[in-house]
Amino acid sequence: MIDSHCHLDLPAFESDLHSVVKQSEDAGVKRFLVPGTTPKGWKRQLAIRQSFPQCDLAFGHHPYFLTEIEKDGISTLKRWIKAHRSACIALGEIGLDATVNTPMETQQALFLAQLELAQYYELPVILHHRKTHHLLIEGLKQLKFAHGGIIHAFSGSMQVAQQYIEMGFSLGIGGTITYPRARKTRQAVAELSLDHMVLETDSPDMPMQGRQGQRNAPAYIGDVAQALAELKTTSKAKVCAQTTNNYLRLFNLEGNDVD
Ligand SMILES: [Zn+2]
Repeated sequence: MIDSHCHLDLPAFESDLHSVVKQSEDAGVKRFLVPGTTPKGWKRQLAIRQSFPQCDLAFGHHPYFLTEIEKDGISTLKRWIKAHRSACIALGEIGLDATVNTPMETQQALFLAQLELAQYYELPVILHHRKTHHLLIEGLKQLKFAHGGIIHAFSGSMQVAQQYIEMGFSLGIGGTITYPRARKTRQAVAELSLDHMVLETDSPDMPMQGRQGQRNAPAYIGDVAQALAELKTTSKAKVCAQTTNNYLRLFNLEGNDVD
């Protein structure tokens, strides 16, 4: 299995990262994507990749932390990607969040600027959404964004999912589907093809059902695979194999040995 979204660079994992990675490996997680949040985090991500080459990296300004972005945040990101291009498989985590204080106009300007950077480097993007699907889709269409990526922690309707899929995106399927109350998302996921899905935990956040109040970790991603297998009425092994292939195809990593 591959955890396509885990924030291993955050302080929550600082003291025991080696055992977190070991437990994940024991649970069958062979590869990770660590998305970027802030310039400070980007440095930590590179250090983590030195110790754990099975960590793929993405760099970007996360919408939660936009207040921390210095004025030249975009040129800083551009320089960073240029300097570390070989370690960087995507741009992210970027997006729009209607529940944070940063004005939406400010968020949109930074989102579009980062999308343009992804166009420039021909990189897929890791997209964060919260009550903002319509604005994200509008931005992607406005720039005719053509490099696809992942809709992180997908939740929403079948119609919304299909719009993203038509634009070349895959859906990041995480702990949300382990909760029976997430009816709309579970229904959409049940009806869509596995060809457009990757697994993720969003560790240390978004604990699965039954693990509320605990730190989430990549080792628990099997819970998502199991819930997805039940929704798709297929086997967990099939879900693991297909989502792994989808990830490798999405980031042009085919031929890399992950099993
Ligand atoms: Zn995230």
